[in-house]
Amino acid sequence: MLQAVTESQNADTIDSGQLRLNSEQVLSLLPWNTCNARCAHCGPNSGPTDKTAIHHERCLELIREAGRLYQGDWCLTLSGGEVFLFYDRLLEYVTCAREHNGYTTLISNCFWATSSQRAEKLLRPLIDQDLRVLGISLTQFHQEYVDPKRVGIAIEAARKLKLRVRVRSVASKTSRLWELLRAVEGAHPWFVQFMEMPLVPHGRAEQLPEDDLFFADELPTGTCPAASLTINPSGKGMVCCNGGGDLEPLQVGDVDFHSLEQLEYLFASDPTLRYLVRRGPSACIDFLSPDEAEKVRDSRYVNECDLCIKLFRDEKRASLIKERINNEAMGEILPVLEELDVPPSGT
Ligand code: SF4
Ligand code: SF4
Repeated sequence: MLQAVTESQNADTIDSGQLRLNSEQVLSLLPWNTCNARCAHCGPNSGPTDKTAIHHERCLELIREAGRLYQGDWCLTLSGGEVFLFYDRLLEYVTCAREHNGYTTLISNCFWATSSQRAEKLLRPLIDQDLRVLGISLTQFHQEYVDPKRVGIAIEAARKLKLRVRVRSVASKTSRLWELLRAVEGAHPWFVQFMEMPLVPHGRAEQLPEDDLFFADELPTGTCPAASLTINPSGKGMVCCNGGGDLEPLQVGDVDFHSLEQLEYLFASDPTLRYLVRRGPSACIDFLSPDEAEKVRDSRYVNECDLCIKLFRDEKRASLIKERINNEAMGEILPVLEELDVPPSGT
């Protein structure tokens, strides 16, 4: 999303490149966390026994809201969990988006592609309702649960039906995309877009051995690479689906209490997210005490998201950073309010 689905981190998730506001017109929805697999690298800890899900009616309502809120062509991106697990509901979401001027992209592990006939049978009704991209999640970790031959079958079926395919993978020393390509070469995936990103130790991946990871040589000093409002299966608005969004300090709103328009507003105006997008997680280290800051600087990180997760999953660090960012934001706003002769709220 960007209009594309990507395995932005360690799950069947999505990324959007940059801070996305209403103008970009994407509703990213993770309707359930249930998955037929339980991959060792899965960021959101999806699995067969996890029943966390947004109520079906609320999902449909969010899609209708998106149709009213976004002008013209807009994109529904679906991820999970495994979205094909409840196919009837999936088809209903795609159809609802279509009825409200939207098209759909999604990402799946392809467990359902047991034969060409079955893959085509399942994909065709979705394509008829304007599914435009089949995102496929493929790593070594998936193989315990899904035969990669099924990925090949899904690619072939999609090609036959003229559906674009994007394969997303995460890299660790024991899971490299190039090693998996043999399994799908029979599908002649000439026009498939492949993307590989480093595996970030978040969620179930925290249990993987450290020496399986590709650490950056230096402290990652880039800015937030993939902020995008994403609604998770608990109904919380996450600022991204790269792991940081799973953490409470990086969540904005709740579909039980907020409309999609309100969630978009909370996302676009969140001072912490704006800071991460402008300055990056490494700039937050300066808000910590000198001892803490040194500890953080001395550790190893895979990338900016790994650093961000490690800063914000520690409650004390997160609240200190957020407090300092809010103070900075107030420092920028106050002179403007004074000029306009508007009293700051709370006075
Ligand atoms: S298939 Fe995707 S969502 Fe399911 S457990 Fe594996 S990484 Fe997680
Ligand atoms: S830097 Fe943080 S907020 Fe930005 S995409 Fe990475 S984990 Fe998410």
